[in-house]
Amino acid sequence: MEQIIALPYAPTALEPVISAATLGFHHGKHLQAYVNNLNAALPGSPYEGLPLEEIVRRADGAVFNNAGQILNHNLYFTQFRAPREGNAPAGALKERIDSQFGSFDSFQAEFVAKGAGLFGSGWVWLSAGDDGVLFITQEPNAGNPVTKGLQPLLTFDVWEHAYYLDYQNRRPDHLKSLWSIIDWDEVGRRYGR
Ligand code: MN
Repeated sequence: MEQIIALPYAPTALEPVISAATLGFHHGKHLQAYVNNLNAALPGSPYEGLPLEEIVRRADGAVFNNAGQILNHNLYFTQFRAPREGNAPAGALKERIDSQFGSFDSFQAEFVAKGAGLFGSGWVWLSAGDDGVLFITQEPNAGNPVTKGLQPLLTFDVWEHAYYLDYQNRRPDHLKSLWSIIDWDEVGRRYGR
């Protein structure tokens, strides 16, 4: 059985970037539904008992979609903290971003552009290869870079349920606002260098 993750902050902690109402629906309804759907599909399937990432790597169809959405949301919800001014990465991840993208500003611009330009529902990802090289990729629907052998570091959810209550059709505004609530300590731990 897959369990829904607990949020590591209070429902109002991410305001005004993400409202408590959006967080409540997104975590309590959308993520809960993916958890319920996967738990209904797993018994008797070849994926029963496997770790979530392994299910995402191996499955297709409805099992992949629901397992992928659980993995994606687990990474998404645990990468945030309360808004702060001048929020930015540090250490090895900052150095790698600067060397590959020129600056943190250029990295942010490319990341937001890829999220804003993703047609339909999906996710924009920062991930790392075994050698530490960074990639910004678009994944449609429930996609996750673990299926390409990459380590997921940071992700923006561009499904409308992630922002519609707070930003309506203004997806780029929502994506830009997320920079102030990224927990770069957590993202740096995921990079692990
Ligand atoms: Mn979502």
